[in-house]
Amino acid sequence: NPVTVFSELATLDWRAEDFSYAQLKANLPRPAMNSQTAAETVQQIIDDVRAHGMGTLKDLARRFDQVELDHTRVAQAELDKALAELDPAVRLALEESISRARLFAAAQVPADAVVDYSNGGSVTQRWVPVRRVGLYVPGGLAVYPSSVIMNTVPAQAAGVKSLALASPPQKEFGGLPHPTILAAAKLLGIEEVHAMGGAQAVAAFAYGVDVPGDPRGGIEPVDVISGPGNVFVATAKRLVKGVVGIDAEAGPTEIAILADSTAKADFVAADMISQAEHDANAAAVLVTDSPALAQAVREQLDVQVAATKHSERVREALSGSQSAIILVKDLDQGVDVCNAYAAEHLEIMTGNAAQDAARITAAGAIFVGDYAPVSLGDYCAGSNHVLPTSGTALHASGLNVNTFLKAVQVISYDKSALGDVAAHVINLATAEDLPAHGDAVAVRKAHKALN
Ligand code: NAD
Repeated sequence: NPVTVFSELATLDWRAEDFSYAQLKANLPRPAMNSQTAAETVQQIIDDVRAHGMGTLKDLARRFDQVELDHTRVAQAELDKALAELDPAVRLALEESISRARLFAAAQVPADAVVDYSNGGSVTQRWVPVRRVGLYVPGGLAVYPSSVIMNTVPAQAAGVKSLALASPPQKEFGGLPHPTILAAAKLLGIEEVHAMGGAQAVAAFAYGVDVPGDPRGGIEPVDVISGPGNVFVATAKRLVKGVVGIDAEAGPTEIAILADSTAKADFVAADMISQAEHDANAAAVLVTDSPALAQAVREQLDVQVAATKHSERVREALSGSQSAIILVKDLDQGVDVCNAYAAEHLEIMTGNAAQDAARITAAGAIFVGDYAPVSLGDYCAGSNHVLPTSGTALHASGLNVNTFLKAVQVISYDKSALGDVAAHVINLATAEDLPAHGDAVAVRKAHKALN
């Protein structure tokens, strides 16, 4: 039989290119639907939730989820029932995932920093958890019980007291979030779960929803919203940032793979497909210096895409403007491309994978070698799967304990310690033409205690 290849995936041949960094960024494959293009739709949803609260949540549940909602709040009895009916094998897998995630989260809790400048003068940086968080768990095309774990574990390790979780209502489960999501929430000790999804859930968490007179209450506003979602969820988080904190823009998933001739084409193809199955907007990008590997991956994709369950969605994701094989002249150029792309997930399958991984300066998470596929990290590596997308890994981090902590600096100086620097404060105050600043120190220096 003649060998056939998957030809819908674009090739970008950059072997002869000498792009500047700005040109490189401009030429990278990105999805057509992004936070800029979705912003108008999403802003309207946010405005509607602010104006009409629960009424808008009900309207949008009808429109997007085909569900008639009475209230978003899920009753405790539903959480108990979901855990009682959970498949034991899935329960064991969730428990393993939770215990690995807890070990890594506990190791991330930062220590306070204290500096004593003099006897009686010290500054401390104290880490304080935010009061309340809204955890988003996706549930549109697929449902994500694993994201319940990824959101909740670091928030609990940070010491957050009030946790609320949102996930889209599911028509086939009577308008509740998926039962495995409810079971995972119960397993983790979360009591407040809301059946709401999309940009409207993010808006409800950011601004709160009042339902006067209803014993189930409304939705109290949160301080931080975390969690992954599609382009509408990610855009909503971007638009409410400032009103609340967010973890990062964790939108439609991306995998980039840096591979050379030593990589196994069937592994590469399987990993590209595993992320493409999330969303037609998902990105899969192979960066390689080996045209032979590129050809072998196309052959593997041809076979594996046809055989996979969500073949249509995968095909759409791989043929979109966000996916490509990028041919580079050598791995140095490959590393530069990966650092400019700043993938959510970056796999390194090269002869010297650990060394090449050490040269990466921008990625949500790096998966080193042939036996660390992204799907390991999605569920059970111990690392977090809520990671920055759309190039935001240039400045943002994956979800971790720090997402839910604030650093508060505590200044403690007595009279003699203040006296040691009083002249410097007064001189700097004078230099800034803010003499009242200096007076605030002078009045203390001159003060004679009455007792
Ligand atoms: P979702 O919960 O993110 O979105 C579903 C909701 O989107 C619906 O309930 C609806 O309210 C809203 N919606 C759908 N179409 C809309 C439209 N036309 N206009 C406005 N709102 C609309 O679930 P999903 O769609 O399955 O997406 C999950 C996403 O999460 C995928 O893109 C996946 O790649 C991503 N993900 C990202 C990470 C990460 O860390 N970056 C991790 C896991 C999953």
